[in-house]
Amino acid sequence: MKRLVPVALLVAAVMAACKQTPPASSAVAGVFDGTSGQWVDLTYPFNEQSIYWPTARRFELDTVSYGMTEGGWFYAAFDFAAAEHGGTHMDAPIHFAEGHLTVDRVPLAGLIGPGAVVDVSERADADYMVSVNDLQAWEGRHGELPNGGILLLRTGWGSRYGDRTAYLGTDLTGPEAVPQLHFPGLDPEVARWLVAERGILAVGIDTPSIDRGQSTTFDSHRILYAENIVGFENVANLDLLPEAGSYVVALPMKIQGGSGAPLRIVAFIPHS
Ligand SMILES: [Zn+2]
Repeated sequence: MKRLVPVALLVAAVMAACKQTPPASSAVAGVFDGTSGQWVDLTYPFNEQSIYWPTARRFELDTVSYGMTEGGWFYAAFDFAAAEHGGTHMDAPIHFAEGHLTVDRVPLAGLIGPGAVVDVSERADADYMVSVNDLQAWEGRHGELPNGGILLLRTGWGSRYGDRTAYLGTDLTGPEAVPQLHFPGLDPEVARWLVAERGILAVGIDTPSIDRGQSTTFDSHRILYAENIVGFENVANLDLLPEAGSYVVALPMKIQGGSGAPLRIVAFIPHS
């Protein structure tokens, strides 16, 4: 019986220690070794089916070498070519704002932050604009959009990505296709509200453009990019993210002077 007291104390001490928050270094390690959550890829592969603006150069991959060399080893290499704006990609502010940041000059701190997924997929049609009400409904559930956050708009259009006509609203290409584009986007009123009232870094969407297909003046682009808020377009797999609680890392190809670039965008979802 005499030994019971020290053993009970030891058990209590171990239990208390387990409840303590682990040191920050192990929390960071858990992100990178995957033990404290899950990484999700929000990027479509680049291939012949990648969606490009109807007037833009589509993705091409040419084989330079694929096979055994005379030396007896295998060797593969390709050339690729594409417009900046197609597939999963980033818009740099200079895309619509003269004198603003080019893609290589957007700092890393402007590309990494907590994710806020606003899901309008239940009600979005091909001309839908995500509204201030939609964002305020999100805030009613999760609190104010995080400062330094990355706003991701889930319209549900991602499920159409394999079908060019369903995704863009037309199977035409060239300038005559542009008036026929139909897909959801962001109401310019929201862009104004975000700029005036919130401190987000970026807006991403699961459609080809931040402005809806029927936009002719691209106001959401112009309002956001004038404030160096960047855009991510054709973002994949938004259905895999929670509305709140994820962290987003978006790394564009560092094209010097570029107005946009192919993007590898991923998110980390911590275990709850
Ligand atoms: Zn773009």
